[in-house]
Amino acid sequence: MIRFHILGAGGAVPTPTHTPAAYLVTVDGDPVLVDPGPGALVRHVRCGEAPHGVDDLQYVLMTHLHPDHCADLVPLLFAAHSVVLQRTDTLHLIGPVGLAAYLESLRGLYGTWLEPRRRELAVRELIPGETVELPSGGRCESFAAHHPKDSFSRQPLGYRFLDTQGSVAVFSGDTEACPGLEQASRGADLLVVECSTPDHLATSGHMTPAAVADLCRSAQPKQTVLTHLYPAAAATDLEAIIARDWDGPVHQARDGDIFVVPKEKNPIRRDPGQE
Ligand SMILES: [Zn+2]
Repeated sequence: MIRFHILGAGGAVPTPTHTPAAYLVTVDGDPVLVDPGPGALVRHVRCGEAPHGVDDLQYVLMTHLHPDHCADLVPLLFAAHSVVLQRTDTLHLIGPVGLAAYLESLRGLYGTWLEPRRRELAVRELIPGETVELPSGGRCESFAAHHPKDSFSRQPLGYRFLDTQGSVAVFSGDTEACPGLEQASRGADLLVVECSTPDHLATSGHMTPAAVADLCRSAQPKQTVLTHLYPAAAATDLEAIIARDWDGPVHQARDGDIFVVPKEKNPIRRDPGQE
């Protein structure tokens, strides 16, 4: 089973219902925090699935190193330095090539303050096509996204999660339409795809409703969820626009939504204020 909890359905500009990137993806019981954007640490501990916060984490996965996708690495590692935390097994930080250099530059700023006190830190850089094996047998395959490079990572990634029963959930990360996303999304049980802006505000490196409809027609995902919604996108009925060109189920996410595959009652929608 894959449980996809959207902690932050927004882009870099937070609104009360759409805060920056943060996702808790649980594959056969193994929780993975994906893209710890600004505020992710707080939303994670309040989400109802991680009462011990950082001590509940073993895997943190990043698609790329723009601040709205990784800014909470600093508070996360600073918390792991605290004497208060108890967990002693390895904390895995996984992301694109450039992650190690990014962490090294943080070390230049903060010295040893970001070194976990009781846990070893395992840093792994993925090239597209490489896979992360999770403890319970699930896995996560990386694919190449098309998005402007940041100061550290030249090849942003998207991820394809698979559980031991063969269920597939895809997360686009930040990207425009590209072969990696199309291939990863083919027949997926759940496609969580960015849709940053309405079509008239289209920006290179990002998706719009028209691009999502094209992707769905070509890849035929069983269920599609729109995320990384900047304010103009969040205020638009994107579901209605996409429905003109694609008749599969599409949900416009907001913070706190949970999607489960194999499908239960989706989405499990919570009031973000109640988390
Ligand atoms: Zn980005």
